[in-house]
Amino acid sequence: MEYKRSSALFIEAQQYIPGGVNSPVRAFKAVGGHPIFVKSAKGAYLYDEDGNRLIDYINSWGPMILGHAYEPVVEAVIEKAKSGTSFGMPTEIETEIAKLAIEMVPGIDKIRFVNSGTEACMSAIRLARGFTSRNKIIKFAGCYHGHSDSFLIQAGSGASTFGMPNSPGVTVGTAQDTLLATYNNEASVRELFAANPHEIAALIVEPVAGNMGCIPPAAGFLQFLRDICSENNTLLIFDEVMTGFRLAKGGVQELYGITADICCFGKVIGGGLPVGAFAARREIMDFLAPVGPVYQAGTLSGNPLAMIAGLTMLRAINSDAELFKRLEEKCAYLENGLRVAFSETAIPFTINRVGSMISIHFAKESVVDFATAKLGDNEWFKKFFHGMLQEGVYIAPSAYESWFLTDALTYEDLDFTIRAAKKVAAEM
Ligand code: PMP
Repeated sequence: MEYKRSSALFIEAQQYIPGGVNSPVRAFKAVGGHPIFVKSAKGAYLYDEDGNRLIDYINSWGPMILGHAYEPVVEAVIEKAKSGTSFGMPTEIETEIAKLAIEMVPGIDKIRFVNSGTEACMSAIRLARGFTSRNKIIKFAGCYHGHSDSFLIQAGSGASTFGMPNSPGVTVGTAQDTLLATYNNEASVRELFAANPHEIAALIVEPVAGNMGCIPPAAGFLQFLRDICSENNTLLIFDEVMTGFRLAKGGVQELYGITADICCFGKVIGGGLPVGAFAARREIMDFLAPVGPVYQAGTLSGNPLAMIAGLTMLRAINSDAELFKRLEEKCAYLENGLRVAFSETAIPFTINRVGSMISIHFAKESVVDFATAKLGDNEWFKKFFHGMLQEGVYIAPSAYESWFLTDALTYEDLDFTIRAAKKVAAEM
């Protein structure tokens, strides 16, 4: 496959946009080469500027769980746009999507909509600090919660890909209030609580991690976090930006039966438009302005296009009793195919998967945290990525990212992908 026009467009974009992209991981820095410029997408496929068709395993980093240009969402957005795109005033549809999200997700009474996952996590932390009158937070190395200052401390995703976990511009003061623990490591969390008594406002975690590749929580780990937070009057925040409405209707809380104090959402909840949200029980959410003292706001928050896209998406998910079962089966089928493909070679590999999130690490050791994720061989990964691209399969352009399957994938698509993986693995 040729990607000449994408290459030319990238050269031009770099003159006007830093790095040619509006979000760093898109730049292919981890895998080399230039990004693919998309012209359109439908269902499981991307169509690029060179006229290639690619099977998409990223799906806008998660939102397009029912496939690209999913017709009910597209039609609802078009219809809604005709009656105005933003008012900065309340609309009935905001209550409708709030009601539905609260019905789908366990343990939440109220929800507030914002414009991105970053905003959701940033606001959740402020709310937790206000609610508890404490300053410090615990995060896990390799977990990514958006690009707000408190979280850019050993963050995963692009922040790992680019080898600048501590970004310039984040003040020492901010960094001091973010305590770092090791994912799946109870002792590291216990030590932080012991060393900072009555000081920790919140512990934020990706309950299934997706920003150091996909890493499932070890058995009992989430329950341990729940218990230690309760014992210390610290709020447990589940960042379900990736996992919410993807691993189950009620996200990880439903899947693992653990209730957090605050949940953050993004991606799927916006149906492909810029939406994030955070939610909690009534007493916590009513600490927010205008009822309570913690300030949080947004000109475009809850705008009608975003809300109708999200509402249409959530309705589709809520009314499809088989969706998560189908996604699980499709991803398990892919996992098995990839295992067979690499088992026939001498290449060391580890595959992690939860539901429709999957990633392959070129390491022998099991990948359970940031340190083990970093053991993966990036040279193998690069070869795999570019090999798959040549075959017409688009996977995440970094080993630190999860793949996100869409229900639009057929078994023919999966077989095509597995055949491509076999060929690429054999050539690697
Ligand atoms: N939290 C998690 C778990 C994420 O994966 C991401 C983005 N990939 C974010 C927060 C930030 O969301 P956004 O990019 O919409 O700001």
